[in-house]
Amino acid sequence: MNSTDRNRRRWTYVVIYLVMSVAAVGATFHVTLRSELARLSRTGRVVLEQSSDRLIAQLESYREMTDLMARHPQVSALIEGRSSRAVTSEFLLRTALTTGAKELHTLDAQGRVLASSTLEEAPHIIGTDWSNRADVIAARTRRMGIYHSADDLGQRSYYFARSVLNDTGNPQGYVVVKVNMDELEAEWRIDETVVTFFDTSGVSFVSNRLGLALRHDSKLQQTPSASFGYPETLQSFPHHQLSRAGGHDIWNFESGSEMPERALIASQDVPLINMTARAFIDTNPAFSEARLLAALAAAVLSLFGMGFAFFAQSRDRLADQLRVEAEANTQLEARVAKRNAQLQQAQDNLIQASKLTALGQMSAGISHELNQPLSAIQNYTANAEKLIERGREPEARENLTLIAEQTQRMDRIIHNLRGFARKETEPLETVNVADVLAASLGLAEQRAKSENVDIVLHSVPHAWVDAGQIRLQQVIVNLLSNAMDALSDCESKKITVTLSQHRKQVQLVISDTGPGLKDIERAFEPFYTTKDIGASKGLGLGLSISYGIVGSFGGLLSVENLDQGGAAFTITLPAIATHQEASQ
Ligand code: ADP
Repeated sequence: MNSTDRNRRRWTYVVIYLVMSVAAVGATFHVTLRSELARLSRTGRVVLEQSSDRLIAQLESYREMTDLMARHPQVSALIEGRSSRAVTSEFLLRTALTTGAKELHTLDAQGRVLASSTLEEAPHIIGTDWSNRADVIAARTRRMGIYHSADDLGQRSYYFARSVLNDTGNPQGYVVVKVNMDELEAEWRIDETVVTFFDTSGVSFVSNRLGLALRHDSKLQQTPSASFGYPETLQSFPHHQLSRAGGHDIWNFESGSEMPERALIASQDVPLINMTARAFIDTNPAFSEARLLAALAAAVLSLFGMGFAFFAQSRDRLADQLRVEAEANTQLEARVAKRNAQLQQAQDNLIQASKLTALGQMSAGISHELNQPLSAIQNYTANAEKLIERGREPEARENLTLIAEQTQRMDRIIHNLRGFARKETEPLETVNVADVLAASLGLAEQRAKSENVDIVLHSVPHAWVDAGQIRLQQVIVNLLSNAMDALSDCESKKITVTLSQHRKQVQLVISDTGPGLKDIERAFEPFYTTKDIGASKGLGLGLSISYGIVGSFGGLLSVENLDQGGAAFTITLPAIATHQEASQ
């Protein structure tokens, strides 16, 4: 893959990873936010429950007191005209002081004030008509009437009204108890969560934050109901926008107000006081938690991404390195091949040179060898001429015989050389040296017997090599014949022939008990001979030709003089595994 493709693929992975990471971070944020908001909502409900219970419990005592007062004989006595206003008002004032109620009033059957605990400080209240008030209207039907209002000074009051029944069970008057809300709230303003009780006209009547009491929320109700005795102008509830998050109502307040900027709303209807309680829970911890977890997820994903990028980069670097190494290897191999070719060329040149040297040596030797018989022939011819001139023909004929001998010798030299040249073209084949050895021994047998030479054979049955059968036989016969030549003047005439195979080499050793080589360094030199040239076969070509033949099989012919006397020639050839051997 080239680097452009690799870059393109990498960028595709990066984009996919980024998109997935953003999705994962977003999902983490939303899931965390949802669960945190649910937790806050549960907390809000508990706070609301507690606040509602507390308010109801506080109002309950006044409700019961109203019940008791409606049945009190002093109240009945006043309504029935059996007691005076002053006495009853005094009774009401005392009761108010002991119970903590703000005011206590007794009304006649038409709803006008007959007596009041405030008679002394506000005597004008006597005769006021409250018949249209919601609590009195409700009390008329024998229920517990409730009502709330606020005066111009912002003092909020909660009222309970109960009918005073006559003997026949019909209302003959009413008792009204007024409770000051500010005093009730004083106990629970320390709550952390803002809790507000809204009435049906959208006015926050009770709250654990003083500043939030008596404020109108136009989003709940356009205008505050006139049925509650509120001042004409009410302050607005802090301005806010509505939204939803995680299935919850959120009121978004402007910063700077005493409300949390983003408040989760938990709400609960409180039918006993006909209001709806709302808790405003700060969602900041939920958002912070969600942001924190999202940031953590982003950090982990970034780390993972960076790790992956690092891994990918080092993998690419490694790939580049390997490629560079491979290129260097290829270059090196090319250089080695070139150098090998140069070496081969040099070797070929050397071989050529050594061939030429050998040819030179041979030519010199051949010419030397041929020169001798030639000059002898010249001498014999000249002598023969002179002898014939003098009429000594019988002697001249002897010379002719000598000339014939010299030409025979020349023929042998040339024959040897031609034979060598011809056999060199024989193709190589798989040859069992043991067989060739047996045939060679067969050829040498006759002479050994006539010269009393003892040939001892140690041979493995198979020793396969690549060779030319005839040429190998020629070498072995030559070595045996040389050994027998060397033994001719010896008393003990013994030739030991050993054929063995060691791992991948076949070795044939032909050793004798003769005198050994006189000049071992020159043994393979062409035309080196210690034998009588004229008389018999000594030409000095046998070993050099044998050396060349064994070399042409990829083997080596070597010689050593043995410590105990005698020479040992060793033919070493590379062994080849035959099918039989391979299957064994
Ligand atoms: P040639 O047999 O015609 O002399 P070779 O090349 O075969 O030529 O031998 C060269 C010479 O090596 C011989 O003349 C002889 O001196 C010596 N030589 C060869 N084989 C033996 C041997 N087995 N023992 C001693 N000398 C040997």
